[in-house]
Amino acid sequence: MFISLIANSCISFTGIYFISKIVGYHTTHIYIKNALLGILSGLLGIFLITQSILVEDVVKIDFRFLILVLLGFYRLISPLFITATIISVYRFSYGVDFHSIVACIAIFMIVVAIILTYKISALEKQLFKFGITLNLLACLIAGVAIYTSAGLTEYAAYVALLVTLISFPIGILITIMNIDLYLINHRVKEYKISAETDHLTGLENRRAWEMQMKKIKERYDTCNVLILDIDHFKQINDRYGHANGDEILKQFSELLHRETRDHDIKARIGGEEFGILIPMLSQSEVIGVAERIRSSISKHAFKLLDQQVIHISVSIGIANGKSEQLHEMVHLADDCLYQAKNSGRNRTHIHGGVEYVQ
Ligand code: GH3
Ligand code: MG
Ligand code: MG
Repeated sequence: MFISLIANSCISFTGIYFISKIVGYHTTHIYIKNALLGILSGLLGIFLITQSILVEDVVKIDFRFLILVLLGFYRLISPLFITATIISVYRFSYGVDFHSIVACIAIFMIVVAIILTYKISALEKQLFKFGITLNLLACLIAGVAIYTSAGLTEYAAYVALLVTLISFPIGILITIMNIDLYLINHRVKEYKISAETDHLTGLENRRAWEMQMKKIKERYDTCNVLILDIDHFKQINDRYGHANGDEILKQFSELLHRETRDHDIKARIGGEEFGILIPMLSQSEVIGVAERIRSSISKHAFKLLDQQVIHISVSIGIANGKSEQLHEMVHLADDCLYQAKNSGRNRTHIHGGVEYVQ
C-alpha cells in the first residue's frame, strides 16, 4: 500500500504542477480561465480516483484533496466548487452508498474549511503558514473520512494515519512549489509594471505607449490621438529649479488622470510632452475632452515645493481617424501641436485646420 500511495502522490504532484502553471497564466478572460481550472482540476481528481488504492474493497484512497488545497492556496473559489462537484459526482458513479456519501461530505468540508481560513487575517500575508494550515485541515478531514468510511477499526485508523502521514509532507512540497511560482509571477508582474511606467508621473511611458497603439489597432476601428506639450516649461525650470519642474509634471499628470476616463491611454512620451489615445470617440466629443483638459490646466493652481502657487498652460494637437493609421495620426497630431504653438500657445489644434482658443 505504501508504494501505491507514493505512486498516487507522484501523479497528484505532477498534475498539480501543470495546474499551478495555468493559475499563473495571465489573461483578461478570467471566467474562461476559472472554468478551465475547475474542469482540469476535476479531471485530475477523476484520474486520481481511477488510480486509487482500494481498502477493504470499498474505501478508495487517493490524494484528490491536495488539488483542493492548491486551488484554496490561490483563493480560487469558483474553480474550487467546480472541482469539488466534479470529483463528488464521479465518486457517486461508483454507487450511491455510505462510502461515496462520506467521500462527498469530506470534499465539501475541505472546501468550507479552506474558505473559513480566508477569514483568519493573521494568515493573509503569511504564505507558508497559510499553505500549511490548508494542508493540515485537508489531511485531517481526509483522514477522519477514511477512518469513518473504513469502519472505525484499528486497521482503518492505521490506513487513515498512513494517508495523513504521506499526504502532509507532499502537501508541504506543493505549498513550497506554489510559493515559489507565486513569488516568480508576482515579481514578473512588478517588473512589467515598472518597465511600462513613467516613474516620475506614474503614467505609462513611451514603450507602453507604443504597445498600447498596437493593441488599439487590433481592437478598435477608430481612434483619437492627442499630443500635449506644456507651454514655456523651460522657463519654469529656469525660474523655479528642476525639482519644482518635476513637481509641476506630477500635478499635471494628476489632472490628466482626473479629466480622462480610466481606459483612455495616458502616457508621458517626452520630457514635458504627453500623449492620450481615446478610441471610438467622435471628433466633436474629443474636442470637448481636449478643451476640458486645457481649461482645467490653465485654471489650476499648481503648487511649488514651497507652496507658492503658479499657473501654466498647455498646447494640444489632435488627429482622429481609422485606428489602422494610428502611427500616421501621431505625426498629424504632432504637426497640429506645432501649429498650436506657432499661433500663440494655450490652444487646441485639430487635424483639418480647426483651432480652439480660450
Ligand atoms: P514650448 O512652449 O515651445 O513647448 O516651450 P518649452 O520651454 O516647454 O519647450 P522646450 O522643448 O524648449 O523645453 C522643454 C523643457 O522641459 C526643457 C527641459 O529642461 C524640460 N524637461 C524635460 N524633461 C524634464 C523633466 O523630467 N523634469 C523637468 N523638471 N524638466 C524637464
Ligand atoms: Mg513645452
Ligand atoms: Mg516639448
